[in-house]
Amino acid sequence: MRIRRSSFEEWPTLPHIIIVKSGPLNEGRLQMETKRQSRSQKPSDIPAKPEALSRISSFHAHVYYDPRTTRDKAERLRELVAERFLVRNGNWHDAPVGPHPSAMFQISFAKETFPQIVPWLMLNRLGLTILVHPNTDRPRDDHLNHALWMGSVLSLDATHLPETDAPEPPLEPNTQPRISPE
Ligand code: ZN
Repeated sequence: MRIRRSSFEEWPTLPHIIIVKSGPLNEGRLQMETKRQSRSQKPSDIPAKPEALSRISSFHAHVYYDPRTTRDKAERLRELVAERFLVRNGNWHDAPVGPHPSAMFQISFAKETFPQIVPWLMLNRLGLTILVHPNTDRPRDDHLNHALWMGSVLSLDATHLPETDAPEPPLEPNTQPRISPE
């Protein structure tokens, strides 16, 4: 098997098994090139340190719906959440707003609420698509790189997501939970 140099260069993680099979080529020289290739690759995109949890000030869950067909489900979900969790249920947006490609409302909640509300939404989202994202001072990363999706993954409009922004204002809950989610 002959390996053209151009295709080799496009394939920096060439497995050694292929090197062993490359009879017509000088194996020693090819192995040296493999080592040189791996050393000369671009700097790794693996950060030296992981992100600190303390960067997260709160979370949002964006509940998407279709105003013509699934608004009733979104209304029911919003009620169920308000009865069970201390959160801020945001305004109704029956048309796309900001980076969001569909009608939605937003649930804002504290870090401490995450272990209850996120699993509860997993079980009770009524088939609706939900985006959960952390709030740090980097909205673009929060929405595009650090989010989790329930249901479908929708495309967000990144032009509405600045790389950095002022931190989210302190959470002001507007619900009065009276039922334990159990
Ligand atoms: Zn949000």
